[in-house]
Amino acid sequence: MRLVVIGGGPAGLFAALSASTVCKKASFPAVVTVLERNARPGQKLLASGSGQCNLTQNASPEELVKHYGDNGRFLLPVLNACPPSRVMDWFTAWNVPLIVREDGKVFPRSLRAQDVLRVLMERCIEAGVEFKNESRVVSLNRELKTFLINLEQGATLAADMVIIATGGSSYPTTGSTGDGYLLAKALGHTIVPPHAALTGVIAPQGTLGILSGISFALAGLTLLSGAGKGRYWNGPLLITHSGISGPLVINNSRYLASGDEVALCFLPHEDGRLRTPAEMESLLKQLIDNQGSLQLQTVLHQLALPKAFISWVLQDCGVDGGRKAAEIGKKQLAPLARAIVATKLTISLKGCLEKAMVTAGGVALSEINRKTMRSQLVEGLYLAGEVMDIDGDTGGYNLQAAWSTGWAAGQAAAAAMLGALPS
Ligand SMILES: Cc1cc2nc3c(=O)[nH]c(=O)nc-3n(C[C@H](O)[C@H](O)[C@H](O)COP(=O)(O)OP(=O)(O)OC[C@H]3O[C@@H](n4cnc5c(N)ncnc54)[C@H](O)[C@@H]3O)c2cc1C
Repeated sequence: MRLVVIGGGPAGLFAALSASTVCKKASFPAVVTVLERNARPGQKLLASGSGQCNLTQNASPEELVKHYGDNGRFLLPVLNACPPSRVMDWFTAWNVPLIVREDGKVFPRSLRAQDVLRVLMERCIEAGVEFKNESRVVSLNRELKTFLINLEQGATLAADMVIIATGGSSYPTTGSTGDGYLLAKALGHTIVPPHAALTGVIAPQGTLGILSGISFALAGLTLLSGAGKGRYWNGPLLITHSGISGPLVINNSRYLASGDEVALCFLPHEDGRLRTPAEMESLLKQLIDNQGSLQLQTVLHQLALPKAFISWVLQDCGVDGGRKAAEIGKKQLAPLARAIVATKLTISLKGCLEKAMVTAGGVALSEINRKTMRSQLVEGLYLAGEVMDIDGDTGGYNLQAAWSTGWAAGQAAAAAMLGALPS
């Protein structure tokens, strides 16, 4: 029997290793083949963590699932079966010593993603996995009980089982260009529209860009339109030359879409609650009432905000900061307060996929068995990794999802081949 894994990223490599190990242990003569379009597998893995590879997050499955947006609980069974502790034990046993940082991020002690990829390749080869590189799959059909896999070069391969592990469509230079969506769709799967996630976003209008490089330790972001209207988050914010970024935006970009209107609160309450324009106005009034003889800008500089930001707010609202604070009337205070706690922006994600760390959207989870990663629609088909509608926060969550789903798909496909489970 032959199992073909399409895609040699972390999910595909773990799937192939897991399936091959089961078959080898059972002395079952299965061929496990990884088809990788690049000259070598694992290009995105090599880029992960800026080449240092934050390979997981040292947390319990219950804690982990909170970091994959609304779809996190789908992962619970596979995270329970293949949790970070197990992944860490494996890499340690494979002679890749790890370090766990205070924030829970786990890296190889060498801080080299190459070491993670190298050991995975060694393990796969030792387990008997066959690699066919420069083999881009362009179509996948199922005829009777056999999959026919067509390669770009023209060859056709037959397989009894297939695991699609082609990744998402972000960072396409690494080989993940969304092919898996087309393959799964052609077999009847629903694709939740993919878009960039773990990315900063563009804010084409307005003058905020002159604050490029300025960061806010705690800011708030409210979604004013679109599917997630009314949701808000807080965290560190960075202004970029073209828009907004920083953990606040990056970790919540999965909820954002081009054309959405958002409001930025640059001065939330210390506990993270958003400050309303009315609350901000009354805070400004209080400051001014107590120090009316000072220049307005001197008074505003007492707020826990960067000086450059205060200059921008004054300029953007057309208020002369050199005037005495007492001379500033309600008519001018209201726009100042709104700019500080409710600056509205229309955002765009155009071009963000090129540099986004992950893709939100993908093969609909309702069509995948959450214990085995088996397609609910096509017998013998499994899915693993980012090709599915799963995306995690920064911090090792995405690679952990790739390991766990890859491992589960490999186990289930092997068990099906061995006849232990119906395929
Ligand atoms: C710059 C960057 C840094 C990151 N850092 C981290 C980090 O530190 N920690 C973390 O948890 N996550 C990180 N991520 C995210 C993480 O790397 C991905 O979520 C993870 O690699 C997904 O694994 P995957 O196997 O599903 O897909 P991929 O890694 O994308 O692998 C898919 C593979 O399939 C191949 N392929 C695609 N189409 C075909 C086809 N038609 N035929 C054959 N082969 C095909 C591709 O060439 C690729 O090798 C980072 C991402 C980026 C872009």
